[in-house]
Amino acid sequence: MFTCYNTLGIPVKITDRREADRLITLYTEDFGRIDVVARGVRKISSKLRSGVGWMRLSEIEFIQGKTYKTLTGAAVRDKYTSVNGDPQRTEAAARIIGLVEAAVRDQQPDRGVWKLILSTLERMDSSPANDFRVEYHLFFWNLMALLGWKPSTSACCYCKKKLPEGNLVFIAEEGGMACPGCAPSGQGFIPVGADIAAIINLFYSGKNAVLAKLKMKNAHAARLDAMEEEYLSIRTR
Ligand SMILES: [Zn+2]
Repeated sequence: MFTCYNTLGIPVKITDRREADRLITLYTEDFGRIDVVARGVRKISSKLRSGVGWMRLSEIEFIQGKTYKTLTGAAVRDKYTSVNGDPQRTEAAARIIGLVEAAVRDQQPDRGVWKLILSTLERMDSSPANDFRVEYHLFFWNLMALLGWKPSTSACCYCKKKLPEGNLVFIAEEGGMACPGCAPSGQGFIPVGADIAAIINLFYSGKNAVLAKLKMKNAHAARLDAMEEEYLSIRTR
């Protein structure tokens, strides 16, 4: 006898296997990250086919075998029509889901991470035209904090003094920013202005109404991209 499990989940990675199967990695409400085998799901006649898909919230049912979890039932439970229909929203949502796949390795449920994913996708779906890059960066830094990797963006990570207005450096390895006096020379740091520290602090303020109206400068988005890439590679290596 196999035990049957039921939970809500969002696919973060989908890989074709054999002729008609798929290996689906989901982030779930009750089990954290799991891999399930969806047998025959690529056949037109498959009942699972319409129940689980990219960027959809699904209720899934699976059985735990000796080696694999096997998907036995799936039904879409979201109404993310805008996220799936508007290119800007789709691009930001795809980055968010890709980030969950890259950063969350734990096979443990985490209600904070689950809520962050759902609330972000729901807000993106229902909010009027917006700069959806803000949603990605907001999600990135809040996810880092939930995973225990909140960077130091108010005090220098070396001397612990309040960061000055002006030129700073971000040191991914140290998990934060440093004042010019403490900044080491050489490789491994990214120059940033006090404006970048202020943006990240705003992400941690919970002022979502302010953030919803924020339009991000291209230079800020590019600098955040560079910091996030470096930070993630160090935290997940
Ligand atoms: Zn310092």
